[in-house]
Amino acid sequence: MGKASEDRKTGLDETSRRAKGKVSLRALFSGLVALTFLMTLVLTLFASYRSEQKLLETRTLDANVRESERVGHAMNMLFFSIGKSLTAFADEFTELATLRASAEAKHELKLLYDSGGYFSFVFVAGADGSISAFYENEKGNQGKPERVDEAALSEAVKANRSFQSQPYKDAYGEMVMLISEPVYTEEGVYLGIVGGALHLHAPDVLGELFGGQSVDETGSYTYIVDAAGRLIYHPNPKRIGENVSANPAVAQLALGNSGQGKLVNSEGRMFLVGYTAIPTTRWGIVAQTPTDLIDAQQMEQMRGTLMVVLGPFLALSALALFLARRLAAPFVSLADFVAHAADRPQDEVMPCIKRHWNREADLLNRAVMRTVREMKRQNRDLNDFALKDSLTGLPNRRSLDETLEKLAGDNQPFSLLLIDIDRFKSVNDRYGHAAGDEVLRSVARKLEETIDGSDVCGRYGGEEFIVVLPGRSLPETYEMAESLRLAVAAHENSLRIPVTLSIGASICPLQAARVDDLFELADRALYRAKEGGRNRVVV
Ligand code: GH3
Ligand code: MG
Ligand code: MG
Repeated sequence: MGKASEDRKTGLDETSRRAKGKVSLRALFSGLVALTFLMTLVLTLFASYRSEQKLLETRTLDANVRESERVGHAMNMLFFSIGKSLTAFADEFTELATLRASAEAKHELKLLYDSGGYFSFVFVAGADGSISAFYENEKGNQGKPERVDEAALSEAVKANRSFQSQPYKDAYGEMVMLISEPVYTEEGVYLGIVGGALHLHAPDVLGELFGGQSVDETGSYTYIVDAAGRLIYHPNPKRIGENVSANPAVAQLALGNSGQGKLVNSEGRMFLVGYTAIPTTRWGIVAQTPTDLIDAQQMEQMRGTLMVVLGPFLALSALALFLARRLAAPFVSLADFVAHAADRPQDEVMPCIKRHWNREADLLNRAVMRTVREMKRQNRDLNDFALKDSLTGLPNRRSLDETLEKLAGDNQPFSLLLIDIDRFKSVNDRYGHAAGDEVLRSVARKLEETIDGSDVCGRYGGEEFIVVLPGRSLPETYEMAESLRLAVAAHENSLRIPVTLSIGASICPLQAARVDDLFELADRALYRAKEGGRNRVVV
């Protein structure tokens, strides 16, 4: 392997070694595009998640406030209508002097019980607090008057107006509350009260207020607390009667405040809560939705969004990656081009780089091509300068030496002609140096015309030329030398200066194998030609 090619190979190794651990433009582009898309997707999803969450929370809170108000309103209506029916029946008793048990009183009581449909039991009590008539479902008049709480009863009798007791557990263990209206004579004498009890357990009276559905598909539910913070209605009946005054919403209700908020309940679960206080009963209504169910719903929605976005996203990513590769492609081919130019400086024709749609890439391509072409031209000029004789344009001594060394190195047979112009000094002397130059040029032309295609003719220095004849025998060498001598002698140059040549020849490997020895022999032959009278050939 030649030294030059060895150098080139280590150069390549060097290049590839340096390229290792470097990021390729293609990978960089692709990575950047993928990263940008991914970040965009994540940010978009995140932003939409956040705004969706805010919206969902606001909507849920509003809905819960509205629901608690609705239930509050319905409850007010309920108590209003209960009060109305009680008042109507109280008016029936105004003609009686007392509220003592009587057949008429019992009959009216049964009518009261049947008309409303919301009472668990009904009763009449005198102004002294004694129950004079009692009626309850199934048992009729034979029911348990003890179901009327003593404390609530005395409070109701003392109240002397429309009255609602706090809820309590009655003799059957049912959660009830008393509602009563005062009874007066026409003269305005206070006789006592007519009252009834609401059974608070779902699905009775209060359950109806929620439209029969206690927990909806979002996990939302509503409950009612009394003034003491005890549950008087809850979708889970087991919890009715439980004290939940520690709940922040219930605490606010105890202060008579309505509102909304994000709260953690007694079980540590986070809720979006809307609550409404009812001033007449001092009860409070709480409508709430667990956030985890909202979150799950939102996650489901996000998954749906992702599914919709993913297809176009992947398609766009693929397109962007494709474009990124296309964008990087000219730089890759440019690198190939420059590497090719560097690896094979002797190549005359360079591969052409196609025009590129990207303006910068195209400009770069053309600039590099122009530079490489210019570099090659300069290279060629330098080569010419180094290997050509400037006066005649023939190969110079250096080039000739290389040719001879190569032929000898390859063991090729060849003949060497050493040619010297006869009495050239006198040409210079008589016609001037410029004329001498012209003679040198015309001799060079003639020699070039006369030799064969594979022969090489060059100027060795001064008025000496060399002709290399590959693969010639001795007679052939002589013949060619004679042809050259005769051609120059016969040629009439522009200045009509007669020129003759003396030629000394040596033949490789017939006479010698080394170039120095061949020169020695040719030089000696030339000397003999000069001695012999010039204008002749000596082998
Ligand atoms: P001989 O027959 O013995 O060779 O005689 P000669 O005069 O040719 O030999 P000599 O070596 O004495 O002279 C060679 C002359 O060639 C000397 C030099 O001035 C002239 N010469 C050498 N190079 C150039 C050149 O480039 N241009 C011109 N015009 N003359 C040159
Ligand atoms: Mg000479
Ligand atoms: Mg001479």
